Amino acid sequence: MNRNFELTKRYGTCSKDCYGSCVFIGEWNDQAPEQKLLTAKPLKEHPFTNGFFCPKLNNREKLLYHPQRIKTALIRSGPKGSNSFTSVSLEEALNLISTQLTTVKEKYKPSSILAAYYAGNSGLISMYSPFRFFRKLGATITSEGTCNEAGCFALGRMFGNYSTTNPLQISNSNNRLIVVWGSNLADRNNHAHFLVKKAIKNGSKLIVVNPVRTNLAESADLFLQPYPGTDFLIAKYVLNKLVTSGECDENFISQHVDKCINLVEEVENIDEDKILHQTSLNRETLHEFLKLLINNKQRTLFIVGFGPQKYFYGGRNLNSIALIQIFLGNFGHQGTGFLFSQSGFNRDFKGPLIEYITKSSKTSQNRRIPLINLGYSLRSNQYKMLFVYNVNPVSSLPNQNILEKSLLREDLFTVVLDMFLNETTKFADIVIPVKFDLETDDLITPYFIPGISTNQGGPCPYSECSSNYEFFQRLAKKIGWQDDSIFQETQKDIFKKCCGLLPKFIQEPLKTKGYYIPFDVNDVPFNDLKFPTSNGKIQIHQTDIEIFNQNLDLVLKRKDDEFYLLSHSHKYFIHSQMGEIHGEFENVFGKIFLNSYDIDSIGLKLHENILVSNKFGEAKYILGENSDLKPGTALIYSGLPFTDSDYKNVNIFTPETSEESRRSGAYFSTIVKITKI
Ligand code: SF4
Repeated sequence: MNRNFELTKRYGTCSKDCYGSCVFIGEWNDQAPEQKLLTAKPLKEHPFTNGFFCPKLNNREKLLYHPQRIKTALIRSGPKGSNSFTSVSLEEALNLISTQLTTVKEKYKPSSILAAYYAGNSGLISMYSPFRFFRKLGATITSEGTCNEAGCFALGRMFGNYSTTNPLQISNSNNRLIVVWGSNLADRNNHAHFLVKKAIKNGSKLIVVNPVRTNLAESADLFLQPYPGTDFLIAKYVLNKLVTSGECDENFISQHVDKCINLVEEVENIDEDKILHQTSLNRETLHEFLKLLINNKQRTLFIVGFGPQKYFYGGRNLNSIALIQIFLGNFGHQGTGFLFSQSGFNRDFKGPLIEYITKSSKTSQNRRIPLINLGYSLRSNQYKMLFVYNVNPVSSLPNQNILEKSLLREDLFTVVLDMFLNETTKFADIVIPVKFDLETDDLITPYFIPGISTNQGGPCPYSECSSNYEFFQRLAKKIGWQDDSIFQETQKDIFKKCCGLLPKFIQEPLKTKGYYIPFDVNDVPFNDLKFPTSNGKIQIHQTDIEIFNQNLDLVLKRKDDEFYLLSHSHKYFIHSQMGEIHGEFENVFGKIFLNSYDIDSIGLKLHENILVSNKFGEAKYILGENSDLKPGTALIYSGLPFTDSDYKNVNIFTPETSEESRRSGAYFSTIVKITKI
């Protein structure tokens, strides 16, 4: 094909908050007035990307140059909550923000300025470079998040590192059984789904544990469909049977597990009937589960999703699932282990990068508040100015009624950095247009496949758009910090410096292939079974034992017209993103789905308008049917990703009380009532 322009190839990594972190080659026409990125080709040779994207984002060019992308700064021209704005120049917006910021800083404390951020763009520079600004300012910054933090904390306490297993082991020939627990791989982690399907073809058996009949359940040798949040009860049952039948790996336990005796005693006596009732599983299914586990000792791998830790006691759910693998001795051998988040393998090389990006040695530590409690925190008049970047809190955070009320405060000046108008920009005084991930140099550290990959930034056709770093660099200069050394570098300088801080064995593949992965298919981390805990042994904590004493108190009780509410993302959306290119699915957000059995038993009709309510809020929905749901369970898709939608966000029902470690949300500890209108 004849081209009358020069094609530039750049490595890119999808920076969405997603298991994939797909690595690709972007082909760019840098001279084009607008459509500069022509194609993005997922790498075939990357052992996880495997040459394909997910259906959410297999056309990122469309999103990049979408007509609704924000191309100029916007200033509020209507009431808060209306998304009415007038365009202004970036310079004008910066002047307004710097005046406001200086006033707030002088009249109140600098800590009355709050920065809320998360992993909407998970590039390290995108996420952490604004810390240079906020730390120097002495502002308050949010901490932790909405997603897997509770599970990481719980597993970290147990193993010393929440990451223990090489995910490429899914393809290891020693594996004979894969247990996919609380994860809808086909919709949320399609690259792991691909590997699991291949493992099945190669002879591995599959067990799926999920309150929803997922696509993968169709291929499973055994499917367990318990009530949501009863994971620890299933674990308790399994551990009891392993102990009483003498099928535990005694050697493994005595050599590598600390304080296990109490736990063994604890699970020796259980009320089986109660557990069967509470989980709604039958004895035969659990017996089959045990049989498969026992027959495949030291050849079983667990893949556990983020769902089981999205409860008040989510971390303990994860610990109890991990105990099954511990009691079976399924660590340290090829084809075994426990996959949850593997980003813990990145911490040695990631630490110095974050230190450099945030310039932590030159700035002071800030006051932090949990992101999950943003709504409550903003209720007090303590905060006078809010910056939001890389997150859409008015879609993603729980207890939206409180959050929205807080954001409506007239004495709160809100600046939102984003690419599109959304639920959060509705509450902004000023919106700043930012660059797409592919338009900035950055480094991405994935969380399912460990390692690091690169994003070689291509040109952005919109002159008023800036990266997060560029925006705060300009703001720093506006408020008189023009001579400060921490604001002199360009984003490219920071990127280059970070690459240089990586060990040589990482720099090389990053440069030549676009990515570095620390493992091969046969690598077994911690194969000496010495874990990075104080004494090298797996740690059992008092709370892990206590959970087995508690039964009904932890599992929410529901009445006949009440339902456990699940609120996971739809397969065409990532949390609160992708509305612009998948608008055809908007109506799924206006529905509440029930199993047909429930629809009949509570005397409702499909497609009728119904009222959904609980103590946090109420809203009308259309009744939809989903036969994959367990009776007693309802589903409203989360992450309403549109600017102005008639539909209500499911997070009006979710509790702000976080998981007990206070590190992330307890979104699924929710019960709703459904009534006829
Ligand atoms: S959203 Fe996830 S699976 Fe889809 S392209 Fe991005 S990283 Fe890959």
